[in-house]
Amino acid sequence: MELSATNRIRIEVDRDLCIGSGDCVDSAPAVFALDDDGKAIVIDPDGAAADDVVEAGRNCPVTAIFVIGEEGDLYP
Ligand code: SF4
Repeated sequence: MELSATNRIRIEVDRDLCIGSGDCVDSAPAVFALDDDGKAIVIDPDGAAADDVVEAGRNCPVTAIFVIGEEGDLYP
């Protein structure tokens, strides 16, 4: 499993669940963006501290963000 260079995490967005609310972009604008379909994509898993990435996951209203670290799931 490939982990990011700094945070040592992997972030996945379930595009079927994502409703494009943009909360993750508000929480961590250097990590998430909305693509042309209005769904969240990861632009840089190291664009914020790992704790802030997890917080962005918590702020997702439909739990579409999954954060995985070296020891396993960080969120949810
Ligand atoms: S917060 Fe969740 S639903 Fe909203 S854009 Fe991000 S991934 Fe999609």
